[in-house]
Amino acid sequence: MSTVRVAIAGSTGSIGTQTLDVVRAEAGDYEIVGLGVGSSVEALIAQANEFRPKVVAVADPSRRSEVAAALPFAEVIADLADLAADADVVVNGVVGFAGLDVTVATLRGGKRLALANKESLIAAGPVVQPLRSVPGAELVPVDSEHCAVHQCLRSSARSAAELSRIVLTASGGPFRGRMAAELADVGVEQALAHPTWKMGPKITIDSSTLMNKGLEVIEAHELFGASYDQIEVVVHPQSIIHSMVEFTDGATIAQLSMPDMRLPIGYALAYPNRIGTPFGRVDWTTLQRLDFEAPDLGTFRCLALAYAAGRVGGTAPAWLSAANEEAVEAFLAGRIRWTQIADVCDAVLQQHTETTDTSTMSVEDIVAADATARRAAQGVLSR
Ligand code: MG
Repeated sequence: MSTVRVAIAGSTGSIGTQTLDVVRAEAGDYEIVGLGVGSSVEALIAQANEFRPKVVAVADPSRRSEVAAALPFAEVIADLADLAADADVVVNGVVGFAGLDVTVATLRGGKRLALANKESLIAAGPVVQPLRSVPGAELVPVDSEHCAVHQCLRSSARSAAELSRIVLTASGGPFRGRMAAELADVGVEQALAHPTWKMGPKITIDSSTLMNKGLEVIEAHELFGASYDQIEVVVHPQSIIHSMVEFTDGATIAQLSMPDMRLPIGYALAYPNRIGTPFGRVDWTTLQRLDFEAPDLGTFRCLALAYAAGRVGGTAPAWLSAANEEAVEAFLAGRIRWTQIADVCDAVLQQHTETTDTSTMSVEDIVAADATARRAAQGVLSR
């Protein structure tokens, strides 16, 4: 087997560094050909010295010359989307809407996209969908739930018509079991204390509000073509079952493993093969129980907002995702309370009146919708 050439957009973030863990563990099977960051150049330089990529992308123009001086063996480029040119697989670990260009360029280039940046697919579903049929293009989800569904479908479904229901599991985050009134004064540190998963700050806040699960409902709709009525969320605090698929005969297939992002990253790199490193195994003798409960939609309103935006379709998911990014940033900066994240998303979504023909939607339309939604969010935030 020849070496798989891997590029990582967002290489110094949580997904990026864990991708490098997988590549280190699977030495010989993968070669890092490109690394890209926004402005975390110190960490990038250390990574590049270890992995010796041909190309490094640095979005921040003020930091490029110092990277070029530190890495004489690498070509320094400006655009992370250009990392796809020399790679077989691009891992998109960019945070938020900024990852759209990488998603589009990778699929357009006919490469495999290992997608951790769910926001790009959620905001731009109608634009990304047709790119999946570019020859050679392939979208393999890195999101653990969707990686699980991918595995369940692959192992058991002979056609899409056999799928009855997708059940996405949610850990419930740090505030599971708490009521809205108890959550009015929670601080950033409490919201960042995720019980089972180690992730970056944006997605960890999204997990605390269940917006992450809401966005994952839209992501599942886009990835697997299931209707919103076919996608259900169940809270499963142990994070051992990563999601399930129920088939038309009532049989359910689940995917279980330890909660470690290196597993879905390794799956997306190796598919249709599997990596050899287990990154933790379930110990059935100590596990004892797997619990399930319904999500509390009254306290975690973001989940209901995401279903609503998904059902509206068009640019509504782009608006929701943009409003949420602005609200999470404001929360992390101490400008709003945790409970107001849902308020901001709700208020922005109520202003959404765009009706767009999704069949002719372009990347520019999505970028414009994102900007409009962010302006609306800033308007709500300044009130
Ligand atoms: Mg997930």
